Amino acid sequence: MSKKIICPKCRNSINIGNKVALVGKTKTGLKGVILLSTTLGDYTAEFSDDFTIVEGNIVKFLCPICHRNLSRRRNKNLATIIGVDKDGNESNIIFSQIFGEKSTYRIEDNNIKESFGENNFKYTENDI
Ligand SMILES: [Zn+2]
Repeated sequence: MSKKIICPKCRNSINIGNKVALVGKTKTGLKGVILLSTTLGDYTAEFSDDFTIVEGNIVKFLCPICHRNLSRRRNKNLATIIGVDKDGNESNIIFSQIFGEKSTYRIEDNNIKESFGENNFKYTENDI
């Protein structure tokens, strides 16, 4: 489990305790704040008021500090954040930006080290 979550672009920490704060943007331009759990495989999410997302819709995640897009270059359905463990080791945490799709992967050296969520079969190392 990660102690700290940082943005891959600006490298600022974006977790508050065991929650990760992200900005979400829908295709229709609706924006809001989303809190995710830092526990991989825990898909509980909290949304700012008036930010309503329909299951199956894609939500682009942005860093709340530098506002850059966290989408994977190779697969726009996926986003990347960096988890830092208590020893300072970093791994990429990749997760689906499709609301309701439970697919999360922990990557080290371009290999999937762990995967989480009931939809984790959807992507392989070639897709991410
Ligand atoms: Zn950032």
